[in-house]
Amino acid sequence: MTKKPLTTQELQELTVALNRVARNLWWTWNQEAQDVFQELSPRGWQNLYHNAVAILREVSDYELRVRLQDPDFCDRVNEVLRLFETYMNDSRTWAHEHAPALRANPVAYFSAEFGFHEALPIAAGGLGILAGDHTKSASDLGVGFVGISLFYREGYFQQAIDTNNWQTEYYTQLKPKNLPIEPVLNEKGEPVVCRVGIGMNDVAFQAWRVNVGRATVYLLDANRPENEQHFSELTQRVYGGDSTTRIMQEMLLGIGGVRLLRALGVKPSVYHLNEGHAAFLTLELMRERLAAGRSFAEALSQTRAECIFTTHTPVEAGHDRFRPDLVDYAMQRYRAELPVPFSEVLKLGRVNPQDANEPFCMTVLALKMSRAANAVSELHGRVSRQMWHCLYPDRSVDEVPIGHITNGVHLLGWMKGTVRRFWQRKLKASLADAAPPGFRGPGADWAAQVNSPEFWQRVADPEFISDEELWALRYKLRRELIEFARRRLLIQQQRLMHGDFIAFDQLLNPDALTIGFARRFATYKRAPLVFQQLENIVRLTRDPERPIQFIFAGKAHPRDDEGKRYIQYVIHLSKYSDLKGHLVFLENYDIHVARQMVSGCDVWLNTPRRPLEASGTSGMKSGTHGSLNLSILDGWWREGYDGSNGFAIGEDAHASSVEEQDKVDSANLYKVLTQDVIPLFFQRDAQGIPRQWIQRIRRAVVTLVPQFTTARMVREYTEKYYLPKT
Ligand SMILES: *Cc1c(COP(=O)(O)O)cnc(C)c1O
Repeated sequence: MTKKPLTTQELQELTVALNRVARNLWWTWNQEAQDVFQELSPRGWQNLYHNAVAILREVSDYELRVRLQDPDFCDRVNEVLRLFETYMNDSRTWAHEHAPALRANPVAYFSAEFGFHEALPIAAGGLGILAGDHTKSASDLGVGFVGISLFYREGYFQQAIDTNNWQTEYYTQLKPKNLPIEPVLNEKGEPVVCRVGIGMNDVAFQAWRVNVGRATVYLLDANRPENEQHFSELTQRVYGGDSTTRIMQEMLLGIGGVRLLRALGVKPSVYHLNEGHAAFLTLELMRERLAAGRSFAEALSQTRAECIFTTHTPVEAGHDRFRPDLVDYAMQRYRAELPVPFSEVLKLGRVNPQDANEPFCMTVLALKMSRAANAVSELHGRVSRQMWHCLYPDRSVDEVPIGHITNGVHLLGWMKGTVRRFWQRKLKASLADAAPPGFRGPGADWAAQVNSPEFWQRVADPEFISDEELWALRYKLRRELIEFARRRLLIQQQRLMHGDFIAFDQLLNPDALTIGFARRFATYKRAPLVFQQLENIVRLTRDPERPIQFIFAGKAHPRDDEGKRYIQYVIHLSKYSDLKGHLVFLENYDIHVARQMVSGCDVWLNTPRRPLEASGTSGMKSGTHGSLNLSILDGWWREGYDGSNGFAIGEDAHASSVEEQDKVDSANLYKVLTQDVIPLFFQRDAQGIPRQWIQRIRRAVVTLVPQFTTARMVREYTEKYYLPKT
């Protein structure tokens, strides 16, 4: 029986609904939705970097109406709309039961960056990715959540490697119309505009709304015609410019963020400072109270009662410190609004309040102005208590009030499409036997199952999933990565039109043990550590029976020449050493490259100089893909590793000198590679299956996947810090 054609009215409704879905990042963690957008324009999906909004602009309304007359396609669109509505209107979320207070009075989460998806490239690194994953899980759990950040019109830089193997940076203008964001408008349909006194100026800003499932994030944008040029460029780049730009961006973020929330009538119950960048928000909360007639002491204690702070790094340079004269300059207008001597305010950012020459530290401000503070792993908690003991001289180090909540990742957002479909299929097949009570259709149930330890526990069971299936999955993912790398390398090579040409289609071996390293090229992460034993490593890559290979990627901060030298060295090795063909460097590391790499590599390498990796999160993304971690026992891995679920480099300790540490760690890395990793991977039985390796994958899935999620993390934040203590 053929279906009746859709009426104009029905087509119109479908088009509107589909546009609504495209402007909600929910689609970035829903496979069915992505499939629909991809099918509309497969080539566009690739070229427009998986951007649903841009796809709908590329496909004409007429084409869309025609395509929707295909009943099969239309059914799938309707299914996506149903899943979306079910998600948006779910009244049985975790927070309905456990955090109803936060629904009317949400968490206001301030972060200098948010990384949601490759289509909205406004994050610089791990901090932003974590903020994005935090938001997605807050949405999943139904926790009332409003994020505040800046709209960086040029995003984070794009990396291109020049003929000297030196990183160069270039910027492209993002076009709001093509992005999954919407302008924040008033009843008259005009942008809502607020102001902050910065320097001697009154800087105007507008805002963009990012819909992240049920959560909302506002991006403040100083690009307004009424601003002087250097202020309208204030929000151009993530961490762009010098410390003057930086302090001004942070004033806009903190002070402007509070003002926007007021303008929109949002009444937060708690302010979460994600890193010190946002700490100026506490001054604005103070100002409001002082203006309302509170005393300084009252304003202070009331402000403290509603703020919490997360610190993210023990690296000194990660803590903003501003010279007193710079603070003076940046605040010359704003301070007139503060009805107290400015010297009192400056004291809030100093370890020693009496020392007028001490730089103003955003972390100090955040610690002094928050009712609770936390680090992002157990070891990082210990290091942070040590680091900030100076602020609490009358307490012991153990009593320094900084706790910890270990970071996580948003599982569905990080799964590759291949892998989402894989686990979804496994779940469906197992449910076909016995649908449990309360089962509400495959979509809803899948999303709930993904965060349940019980679901991942089943991966231990060969009846649920066989060794052969897991090994086939690994092969599929490794091949997908290698083909992705070959495509990218071809483009890189074509751009340079120079040097030794590499036969890209023969690069990399789909049977080799593939080791991945991708992260910011901050020197403490020690990207080149594995090559300290160069000759030995070359020998391993050339072993015809048991070959290994390396895929690297990562950006160095534009002003970090040392990090750029590391990149140069790795690329040099990939082109001119005996590692050629067994080591490649992929340009322009971002969320998409990260997803390809964590899924396709057999081993995810992590070699930070302990204890400087506060948590690290990229290794957590590998779990659902059956890839194993090989890491220093720092940050999250110190908690995750149990001897059976991956590999550790060295002990739960570290040498005191940097030179000694590098030497010991590189020796240990070589040792575990040759004694554990390589033998285990190539130990195949009569059927050609590495049973022991697969056993490790099973252990990794069972023990790590449900533990290191932002679902667990946001529940912890809610219970420990967000909810008022009764
Ligand atoms: C996950 C991720 C990070 C953070 O990874 P670390 O392990 O903390 O270094 C940084 N950048 C991108 C693009 C990521 O996806």
